[in-house]
Amino acid sequence: MVERTDLSNRINVMLFHFDQRLGPRLLFNVAEVSDPRITSALTRLMDFNFLQEMKAIVNAMANVVYSSMFFSVPNPLARGGTEQFMISIVIFDPTITEYLMVSSLEEEMEQTTSKLMMLTELIIIANHSNPSLENFPELSSDLHDLKDKVVEVFQELFYGQFEGKKDAISQILGKIGNEAGKKIIQNHSTKNIKSSRAYLTEILKSPKISRWGKFTILHYDPEDRVANISLKNSIWTDSLGLMATKACAFIEGILESLFSHIIGEPIICNEMRCAAEYSYVQECYFQIAPRRMNQEKVSYREEQTIRDMALEDRRKTIELIETDMGKAIFQDLDPMIRLIQLFNKAPFISDFYIDETKFLIVCNYWRYPDEIICDSCEKWIEEKCKEKIKLVKSPHRICEISYGFEKKSKKK
Ligand SMILES: [Zn+2]
Repeated sequence: MVERTDLSNRINVMLFHFDQRLGPRLLFNVAEVSDPRITSALTRLMDFNFLQEMKAIVNAMANVVYSSMFFSVPNPLARGGTEQFMISIVIFDPTITEYLMVSSLEEEMEQTTSKLMMLTELIIIANHSNPSLENFPELSSDLHDLKDKVVEVFQELFYGQFEGKKDAISQILGKIGNEAGKKIIQNHSTKNIKSSRAYLTEILKSPKISRWGKFTILHYDPEDRVANISLKNSIWTDSLGLMATKACAFIEGILESLFSHIIGEPIICNEMRCAAEYSYVQECYFQIAPRRMNQEKVSYREEQTIRDMALEDRRKTIELIETDMGKAIFQDLDPMIRLIQLFNKAPFISDFYIDETKFLIVCNYWRYPDEIICDSCEKWIEEKCKEKIKLVKSPHRICEISYGFEKKSKKK
């Protein structure tokens, strides 16, 4: 449990306004400690105000993590008929994981934003040259309430584990899942089944299995005894939410007994990626391989699966951008915004931090060797953004992407 006062010193709530003439401006900062560098970084962010209304965006700079939300309030006197605002929660703590921020703060910000939108004084404040929070008690209490709630959220924070062997609970859940799988197989009629694939398709759709989520067979090769299965809306991830660790050991157990039965020899099932781990990942992926398969072959299979997953993820990213913004608009954007758009839409990028000339990317594929993902990712970003970039992979899940080399001074 973290000390309350300690947290309060490290959490700021800021309200910005976007003025058509003056540009972005900080109205209020509810803070014990304030840092002008953060204010300017956030003000800059307000320039990207077309990003998405009422949707939190999380970024970080140096040792600060911040989450911001844009919103507009109608004002017939304003140019364009609306006044634009941004609320930001700023946390001066590099150890807080961005995953938890996204899921736990967005709702609180949304509630505060909805309250602020109803305040008639907000328009007055926006046009006030030097507003003071003391003169606007209702707004003041809304902003202070938000800060209190954020402090509460972080007091109860659960830090998930990122790496390592399965914990005891997962091992037990896996065993229970395995037993459950055996029972399901026993009670499942195998009359009129033509092939093992037909059996697999049918049993995955049966109510006994499908109540755990929506399974899709991505790949199934009975001869090689391997398969890849995806799962949408896993009951485990849906109920536990984002927790920065895998949550579906029970499903692993079920699939293990199911595939051992179909293939006729003991197999192992691994959850390669879980929706509970990352905010932008919607599906869990499971890989099935024989227990006694030689290590080289297993790792080759894994690499193939990961590569396929990565290619699919990248294809989806561009599709999403083109649906949302159109190809031409995307290419017309400022390089930095192009990169932000790309990273915002990429399902394999769970977060990114902006600095003046570089991005720090939290990539879901960080565990895998460079030659599988990173090398091709660098090429992919360069090609899609028409921007010269340099990607450096760190051993700790964060890639550093520098861009805009031509702006740098040429002397060595
Ligand atoms: Zn999962």
